[in-house]
Amino acid sequence: MIKKIIKAIVIAFLLISILIIAKFKTVYAVVVNDEVVGYISNKENFQQQIDKKFATTENENVAFVTLDSVGYEKIIASKNLVDEEQTLENLKENAKSVYRVYEISYSENEESIYVYSMEEAEEIIQNLKEKYNEIEPNLSIQELYVEKEVTDESIKLAKEKVEQDLENKINEKKQKEIDAKTIKGVYIACAPLSTGRISSRYGSVERIRDHVHQGLDIAAPYATQIKAVADGTVVSTGWSGGYGNLVIIDHGNGVRTYYGHCSSITSYVGKQVKSGDIIAKVGSTGNSTGNHLHFEIRVDGNYVNPEGYIY
Ligand SMILES: [Zn+2]
Repeated sequence: MIKKIIKAIVIAFLLISILIIAKFKTVYAVVVNDEVVGYISNKENFQQQIDKKFATTENENVAFVTLDSVGYEKIIASKNLVDEEQTLENLKENAKSVYRVYEISYSENEESIYVYSMEEAEEIIQNLKEKYNEIEPNLSIQELYVEKEVTDESIKLAKEKVEQDLENKINEKKQKEIDAKTIKGVYIACAPLSTGRISSRYGSVERIRDHVHQGLDIAAPYATQIKAVADGTVVSTGWSGGYGNLVIIDHGNGVRTYYGHCSSITSYVGKQVKSGDIIAKVGSTGNSTGNHLHFEIRVDGNYVNPEGYIY
């Protein structure tokens, strides 16, 4: 009886062993970043497949593919676990494509534009330089390897940001120019003459007058049109001693401009003028030795050097 039982146990043990041997075997767990991504049976063969798979890529913009180091752990496991195809696929998910790109950077801006070709980068720079030549943007190209893919959308967004930035720079520049030509809130938008040359500066001492020059003389041909330099109201026209024919415009906030030695006056008291409107013509009336405009800016009755505001 006991013999029979032992025999039965031995047979059962053998059967189980056969079953185990048939179903289980030594395999390799493939490990990436401490994680098992699959099971394979032949380590050397699998490594060859990895080399083949990741050496080539269909995307011409991919410079190369990086793969975190692959480890192998020998284990006893069910044969059914082994699936080399799937393991390769899983490895692919861990692989990172590295792209060769051209970075267009604008020195004062953190935002860069990335494109795949040098030609495209040069074209973008050309366009930006033409569009924003007023501020001569300092744009440069750099070849880079990045893990982020370039898309039409990413190019569009980056371009928009850079353009917005350049736009802001232009506006800042314009505002600075306006500020520099603004006296007590009055913007001196233009010069009183389109032509002519300065013949006597503000503050100069000359024989023709017994005091320091309180305005700016601009020599110009007879009858050259004289323009209001800012918006305002004509408050005085007519003969005024040494000024000869004189036009005075009030611009508000205590700012007034004077235009002297005119040959004729084409505006009248009370006239509302815009900057650039013609108010008189150049002549040599009053204390003058030749055709020129004597131009003054006064703030609350005090003389101001006009040169920086109109040139
Ligand atoms: Zn003068």
